[in-house]
Amino acid sequence: MPNNDPVPENVIGMSLEELQQKLLQMGEPGYRARQIMHWLYKKRALSFGEMTDLPQALRRRLEEEMAVRLPEIRKVALSQDGTRKYLLALDGDPEQSSEHTIEAVAIPEGKRLTVCLSSQVGCAIGCPFCATGQEGFLRHLLTAEIVGQMLVIQQEFAEPITNVVMMGMGEPLANYRNVMKALRLMNHADGMALGARRLTISTAGLAPGIRQLAGEDLQLNLAVSLHAPNDELRNRLVPVNRRYPLKQLLAACREYIEKTRRRITFQYILLRGVNDSVKYAHQLGQLLSDLLCHVNLIPVNPTGQNGGYLRPAEEDTGTFARILLQYGVKTTIRRERGTDIRAACGQLKQGSKESSGPSYCRISTFQASEGMDD
Ligand code: SF4
Repeated sequence: MPNNDPVPENVIGMSLEELQQKLLQMGEPGYRARQIMHWLYKKRALSFGEMTDLPQALRRRLEEEMAVRLPEIRKVALSQDGTRKYLLALDGDPEQSSEHTIEAVAIPEGKRLTVCLSSQVGCAIGCPFCATGQEGFLRHLLTAEIVGQMLVIQQEFAEPITNVVMMGMGEPLANYRNVMKALRLMNHADGMALGARRLTISTAGLAPGIRQLAGEDLQLNLAVSLHAPNDELRNRLVPVNRRYPLKQLLAACREYIEKTRRRITFQYILLRGVNDSVKYAHQLGQLLSDLLCHVNLIPVNPTGQNGGYLRPAEEDTGTFARILLQYGVKTTIRRERGTDIRAACGQLKQGSKESSGPSYCRISTFQASEGMDD
């Protein structure tokens, strides 16, 4: 017989104010909210029972009325370079009947522990070189599911997570409200207390979302996946360009830079014979020469399963970078992390089958980007 009992409200993903409100409704003092958040986000508690500085009666009531629910780890793949890819089963959107899975990635490097989180199940943008994009869009993740990815991965490491990049499955700016609420919790002094400069949103170029982000009081890092220097090519590689062509996208980027005084990172995956020519390097240099920005060049990793996209020769990658530098555009060639376990962005898929996509990698670009944090 189906269980029709109401599902207890998940405390994960609630803001301090929401939790205070909830406690007041329960007839409890609002200051308990800070204690609960401290246990969840600082002491890594997984149940109300562990929160020993709360009165026992309150702990019991919380256990009856609320829950601490995190995504469940279904599978972990460990890369030779230490990168770990997690297949996570979601606790569930009440409106969805079937279980959804997503992938998230942890990248330890020295004192830094970066996590790459998903924002949607699937993605509607449909970039042809991306495994996630091939699956289409299923749904937005809830705030609890975004924060939950981080908390469940944090349980796996002794050291604290230092950086978060919203570069996993999905387009974060298409799920703006839930993503921003999650990032605010990560940034909140009573939450994970991560500095805003350690939090990065990566977008395929949703111009209205970039404008909205420019107006936020949170100084996040912004990365834009460009991949082409003209509309004709970008329409093919990043189909959302048809909706927000380069002129609109760059106008939004300019507005973002003017308002925030922050440098934008442009990601450019290099695909041999597609977007890596000298001509395109000059076009890109001209396009970005007067912008406060940094370009990350990411040679695609040929897996044989990436729709025929190949990595450019090393010298061609070097030439491309040198041309950009001639235009005064700060440029870095990025190495990838976790490609042996297909943990690079664009290789993440939902479902338990092995990802078969190419190695488009937005994750690795944040391993050593100067000025992005610290
Ligand atoms: S690369 Fe990013 S925006 Fe493009 S389909 Fe994949 S997840 Fe979506």
